Amino acid sequence: MIAPFSRRFQVLTLAAGLVAVVIAVYLTVPLLLNAYAFKDAEKMSYRWILGLSKLFDLPGTLPVYNDDEDSLLNRLLFPKQDFSAVSREVDLFDPARFEQGAHVVSLRGYTVFTQFGQRFVSGGRPVHRDLQSVRIAGAVDKVMQTGRSLSFLNSDTLASGDRIVTVMFPLLKWGRPHAVAVVDVERTALERQVFRAIQGAVTVSAALITLIALAILMGLSYLDSRRRSAESEASFLAMHDTLTGLANRRQFNLAFATALASAESTCRRLALMCVDVDDFKEVNDVFGHLAGDRLLIGVADLLKAKVGEAGLAARLSGDEFAIILPDGGSEIDVLDFGAAILEALSEPFEIDGQRITTSVSIGFAVYPEHGIDAETLNRRADLALYRAKADGRGCCRAFQADMESSIRRKRRLQKDLERAVLSNDLELHYQPQIDIASGSIIGFEALMRWTHPKDGPIPPSEFIPLAEESGSINMLGKWSIRTACLEAVGWPDPVIVAVNLSPVQLESGTLVADVKEALQLSGLDPTRLELEMTEGSLLSDTEMVIDSLAELRALGVGIAVDDFGTGYSSLSYLTRVPLTKIKIDRKFVEQLDSDRHVEAIVQAIMGIGGSLDVKILAEGVETFDQKTKLHDLGCRLVQGYLYGRPGPNPYGEGNPVGTALSDAQRRLAG
Ligand code: C2E
Ligand code: MG
Ligand code: MG
Repeated sequence: MIAPFSRRFQVLTLAAGLVAVVIAVYLTVPLLLNAYAFKDAEKMSYRWILGLSKLFDLPGTLPVYNDDEDSLLNRLLFPKQDFSAVSREVDLFDPARFEQGAHVVSLRGYTVFTQFGQRFVSGGRPVHRDLQSVRIAGAVDKVMQTGRSLSFLNSDTLASGDRIVTVMFPLLKWGRPHAVAVVDVERTALERQVFRAIQGAVTVSAALITLIALAILMGLSYLDSRRRSAESEASFLAMHDTLTGLANRRQFNLAFATALASAESTCRRLALMCVDVDDFKEVNDVFGHLAGDRLLIGVADLLKAKVGEAGLAARLSGDEFAIILPDGGSEIDVLDFGAAILEALSEPFEIDGQRITTSVSIGFAVYPEHGIDAETLNRRADLALYRAKADGRGCCRAFQADMESSIRRKRRLQKDLERAVLSNDLELHYQPQIDIASGSIIGFEALMRWTHPKDGPIPPSEFIPLAEESGSINMLGKWSIRTACLEAVGWPDPVIVAVNLSPVQLESGTLVADVKEALQLSGLDPTRLELEMTEGSLLSDTEMVIDSLAELRALGVGIAVDDFGTGYSSLSYLTRVPLTKIKIDRKFVEQLDSDRHVEAIVQAIMGIGGSLDVKILAEGVETFDQKTKLHDLGCRLVQGYLYGRPGPNPYGEGNPVGTALSDAQRRLAG
């Protein structure tokens, strides 16, 4: 491809060439026309003198005019003429008779001078009838001496505007010049017309070509500007996030390196904040990806406005943002800034007519207290973010030294978890579910317990998220389904076992096969197995999840929604998922005594259960009051410490029926 610069250079060269051609034409055309006029004048004069010699006995004869020896150009320009055809009847001066055809000159007058410079004969309006003009006298002398014809532009008349060509022919006697015939011819309007026509044509074509060159130049500069704007767009894209317009990771890395260098040289503090939108996946699942994108744009705008010119806000990936505060101040100042961001984000976003409330978690590290290089500061701000998430989200945390030891513990536990199944460190505990109307146990929820060989018992709230993050939850989940089925098969019919599922298991693609295998291996009736999953895992309504649940339901397996009412308030999944049970979250049961609105919520959930033909169970029932209120609201199924804490297999060896149940439960179960 030719570079735009060289193309422009070519066009400019062409234009310069054109100008040169025009100038050349303007200079050469008059010269050519002069030559033409001289030649024309010569021929006409020769004819005239030839004619004259037939009327007068001139003092000499004309030399032979050899038309054939003319140059090719002359022969092309001038048709061959028969000079002998001049008749005797030529008038003394009737120029018309000698001007056959188109001529650029016309006869004006003549004089024949003898060798002594005397006028022999004269006619018409010759410029000179005698040789008083030095120039004419000199020219006549020259012709006499050389014996050759001569023609020139007669400068004696130029001042008056005449453009006369004077032609001189020697008249020979005995082969030598004996007299000189001088003929003055006038250049006619035709010559001027030809001159102007050529000038006009050249000017018009030069103007046309100049216009075309200009158009090409303009086109090229338009293309250039398009290319430049495309280039600047590309360089913008290379440094910015396309969705939010914030700086992207690349720009962030460059800016952070620069900010660190300047903080080092000016001995100033610098803060790096990691900002992550809480439960963003659920926003996407509930409101759709478009709303999710709008939410990200809203968060980005807010961060940008808060940071202003003081620092840089960047979007690093998905729902992950970062802020560089070059003059971050102390840890307290950064905490204040973080609090201001959280405060600003507490207002719900208005997206497509829906109010979406969101929160972010923020972790930060400060140079030089928490690290002096980019890698350490990034890692430590990330650790602080992890702590903010663990502390319940929607908060801002500074890096602390213990975070590194806790992350090391996390990594160690994740490794140990992978071995827990094989090393028999896992166990299922069961918590009874009661029908308060009949007072009977309808089933048990299986809850995983892990006793670490060194660290002792670790609660599921800690190890389940670790297993989900590392992926070992699939293996643990498969183990819990199989163990629950193998243990529950020894329980009295129709007591069911409810097993918790992680969203990761639902997406794994092997769930149906794992459940079928466990049922086959244990021989448990599928209707005695129930799978519990949170609202969050049901929101991502991928075909695969819905199909798997439908297949399990078709086998007879029960499907329960756990912790109902705590996720995003989308109920859309209720009709798509083949549910059999809804478990009202413990938080509602807890607030039954204190918040009267909760009663209305429970009532509404009972209504949903009635119309969808789904059983409703209340979790976390701890008091008689709660049980009584739930009963009054129509909720028959309950689970909670009031009836029994989770314990080892209630019907297992060394655990005769009911020993795992609390006294209160035994009282109620009769
Ligand atoms: P969950 O499925 O909602 O289980 C109920 C949790 O509430 C259990 O906590 C249980 O001990 C506790 N609980 C029951 N009754 C009461 C009560 O009256 N008051 C109070 N304050 N708490 C009560 P646990 O065993 O610590 O389990 C916590 C969570 O860990 C479970 O919540 C479940 O989401 C998860 N989990 C437990 N085992 C498994 C498992 O095998 N697989 C998966 N994926 N998750 C599990
Ligand atoms: Mg559960
Ligand atoms: Mg629950």
